[in-house]
Amino acid sequence: MKPPRFKYQAPATLEAVLALLGQYGERARILAGGQSLVPILNFRLATPEILIDINRTAGLAGIEMEDDGTLVVGAMTRERALEEDPRVRGANPLLAAAMPYIAHTQIRNRGTLGGSLAHADPAAELPAVSLACDACFDLLGLRGARTVAAADFFRGIYATALEPDELLVRVRFPAWPPGMRFGFRELARRHGDFALAGIALTVRLGESGGCSALRIVGFGIGDTPERLRAAEAELLDRVPDAAAITRAARAAATACSPRGDIHASAAYRRELLEVLLRRALDDALAGPRHDAPADARARAS
Ligand code: FAD
Repeated sequence: MKPPRFKYQAPATLEAVLALLGQYGERARILAGGQSLVPILNFRLATPEILIDINRTAGLAGIEMEDDGTLVVGAMTRERALEEDPRVRGANPLLAAAMPYIAHTQIRNRGTLGGSLAHADPAAELPAVSLACDACFDLLGLRGARTVAAADFFRGIYATALEPDELLVRVRFPAWPPGMRFGFRELARRHGDFALAGIALTVRLGESGGCSALRIVGFGIGDTPERLRAAEAELLDRVPDAAAITRAARAAATACSPRGDIHASAAYRRELLEVLLRRALDDALAGPRHDAPADARARAS
């Protein structure tokens, strides 16, 4: 199937993009990498009156480091650029570790950070990583600019806080504090598929060896990536020994309400979440790991 006819504009400036969004609102769709949108159009799951192609719009792509260590990434930055940039590996090893799990290289060559976040697939890696990192999203519309925390951005399956006349322009990943550790695990049926379930987490240990700060995020489980608060509560201010990790993983599995679908039953996802969380915590506590993807993938399969 092919899409019905639509108008097409490729504005060179942000002002022109916003003007078109203001004019067409819900009848418009932004075209970024097209890796999710084009299949949606082909299946006629969306029939926009106009596509606003932002591939040639100035000022939307790029990776910058602010003086305080904040990593600022433009919405049109390709997933592959994030994967390959050594500054990303240094500034946010969790983000770097998650990138190779997204689809395949060819798709990451086109797919963008903003497209993945705005698309908000519940099984996607970048929404989960942004939540685990407490990232903030800069949104822009004709009515002004606003910043939304990742925790408030994802509203449901393919649903976000973006208004129809707003554009996601950039994402801010806070500075990675010294001593912060991370874990990333997912299981997919085949490499490149969306995850059946996954975990992205950050953890810091205090001087006593207890967990002083934690953000544990599950994805592929419910309608959005979600903080696994039951697991966090088990570990906060406690030494994360094997028994504590087992309790935390069990608590997360008990508290979650996974989806069942043609890919995996709810019971399978619950058990998978428990296993992945245990492994992600083990990874995190083994030390900051910049080589997680290949190793973690091998051990998860
Ligand atoms: P597009 O497809 O262009 O747009 C997606 C949606 O976001 C559209 O609704 C569009 O209007 C909106 N949008 C885009 N940019 C903006 C913006 N700046 N502001 C507001 N709205 C915007 N993803 C994963 O996370 N994990 C996977 O394992 C995975 N596997 C894949 C496998 C295959 C075979 C394919 C084809 C895709 C896969 N993807 C996967 C999706 C891929 O990561 C996409 O690149 C990504 O989800 C969408 O990014 P995009 O830039 O292509 O966005």
